[in-house]
Amino acid sequence: MGYAISMPLAFDLVPGTKRTPAEQLTTILEEPGFVKHFSDHMAVASWTEAEGWHDSRIENYHTLQMPPGAAVLHYAQEIFEGLKAYRHEDGNVWLFRPEMNARRLRASAERLSLPQLPEEDFLTSVHRLVRIDEAWVPSGEEMSYYLRPFVFADEEFIGVRSATSASYMVIGGAAGPYLSDALTAVDIWLTTDYSRTGEAGTGAAKCGGNYASSLLAQRDGAIHGCSQVLFTDAATHEWIEELGGMNFFAVTDQGTLITPPTSGTILEGITRDSILALASDHGYGVDVRPLSVEELMTRTQAGEMVEAFACGTAAVVSGIGNIKYRQGDQVLELNFGQKVGEVTRTLRQALVDIQWGRAEDTHGWMHPVKEL
Ligand SMILES: *Cc1c(COP(=O)(O)O)cnc(C)c1O
Repeated sequence: MGYAISMPLAFDLVPGTKRTPAEQLTTILEEPGFVKHFSDHMAVASWTEAEGWHDSRIENYHTLQMPPGAAVLHYAQEIFEGLKAYRHEDGNVWLFRPEMNARRLRASAERLSLPQLPEEDFLTSVHRLVRIDEAWVPSGEEMSYYLRPFVFADEEFIGVRSATSASYMVIGGAAGPYLSDALTAVDIWLTTDYSRTGEAGTGAAKCGGNYASSLLAQRDGAIHGCSQVLFTDAATHEWIEELGGMNFFAVTDQGTLITPPTSGTILEGITRDSILALASDHGYGVDVRPLSVEELMTRTQAGEMVEAFACGTAAVVSGIGNIKYRQGDQVLELNFGQKVGEVTRTLRQALVDIQWGRAEDTHGWMHPVKEL
């Protein structure tokens, strides 16, 4: 889409916005949780079929006013992104591969029949917001500023078709580690009862609808002490796909990483892509191919698959301890050990060292936050 030619968006700061007093901000940043408090500002731009993208600005973070008839509330025409800004030892703030988020937001927009925001405008919005709310970027181990860009259909109508108006927004806030302890493995629930997406569906798009469809399975998992769900393919439930919001990897006793290809039903994680590159740098094998539940089970029980982990921007890399699943009336476990495995730890460390500026960024992934 994009019927009108849009000028580059400036995302200028609206005059007279308010800021959280320094003392109060210090308290928030001491224990930020995972974005419990949103920062002072938000980036906004509007789109209509007639005008294209327009009216960009940075204004105070505020409650939205929307008509109850807005399309997103009924047909879930919505997409989002997630990325982080990191404060390095020298005080400077950096973004990790933001151009990948810009590109993926466009791909998601295409699938959800939403307008595509030019990548340049996406980058302007995140650089500007981080710059303006830079005081909100915490320093310290595993601390970051999490950004949540999103697009939704805001046209007021109840008929079913692609909306002719949409909003783009970026909000953000300080984030501590997603998991309290990066070295303890988490248990996950393997579901063959529910699917988050199907062939030719929206699995490869980052859209709220995929998350909504994953929540019942997540509740099922929570009953069994699992925080996340590992989904299988919708057609046969024989192939491993990914978690509700993270990509899946298994590691063999030969130090080879196996992860399913992202074609179609699996989201192209930027962390996944980065881990694949770092694995090659570290001399690990990488095998991107379909992985069956059967192979995962038999080879893990035979001691040939020794680690499993999930990865995504929020939690970075989470080692998997047990994969629990239902078989008849029983709940069985595939055990990878309570401690995060060595390959998982090595790759996690390599990635966070680049993100927080402690290791050389040989891939050119880090972008300093600019005055735009
Ligand atoms: C966001 C997301 C991921 C992880 O992507 P990153 O770019 O690494 O954060 C993986 N799977 C799904 C379904 C996601 O929505």
